[in-house]
Amino acid sequence: MQILLVEDDLSLADGLQLALKQAGITVNHVAKGSEAIHVVQTFPPDIVILDLGLPDMDGLKIIEKLRKQKITIPILVLTARSSIEDKVSGLDSGADDYLAKPFDMPELLARIRVLERRISSTSMSNDILIGPVSLNTSNMQVKINNEPILFSKTEYVLLKSLMQNAGRIQTRDNLESTLYSWGEEVSSNALEVHIHNLRKKTGSDFIKTVRGVGYTVQKT
Ligand code: CA
Repeated sequence: MQILLVEDDLSLADGLQLALKQAGITVNHVAKGSEAIHVVQTFPPDIVILDLGLPDMDGLKIIEKLRKQKITIPILVLTARSSIEDKVSGLDSGADDYLAKPFDMPELLARIRVLERRISSTSMSNDILIGPVSLNTSNMQVKINNEPILFSKTEYVLLKSLMQNAGRIQTRDNLESTLYSWGEEVSSNALEVHIHNLRKKTGSDFIKTVRGVGYTVQKT
């Protein structure tokens, strides 16, 4: 899961980035509307969290612009404007959800999970069950044959991405952007090492290699 955070309040952005990282979500951050549009067009995230009051353009205009270009990425609006009219115009312009500042982190995370379920190929609940592996996106617990198994944060994030997209091939680039934010130093074989470690826990044939492309988990 990779989120683009569009927020000009830098201390809020830092705090959010940290809290989301704790929850296994990789966040890339921009502070301007023009940058947000550029990123969504060139390096699309899974979800956009968008502040409405930005220095260079109104967040509502950004939403309208993206929707006009048929870009359907879920957008969660985060803003101090909390009047009913503002909520309505946010949703009318094409936002998927709306959270007024100040907000509690658990609520933001729950709303992110709602959007995540909508784009997942596998599950409309927080539990994803494929073969012997069950993964809960709310408590981040993984069970294999009903036994709770300990996964590192990175392994969990990787497994979640593969299971949420079961039946689809995840390219190396996809998976790396799920694991790392821009500019993070990554060694070239890091992904292979994590997949290798995952397979030791899930059984060797749960994650299939698609040679030269990436990896996939079959739907069951
Ligand atoms: Ca702002």
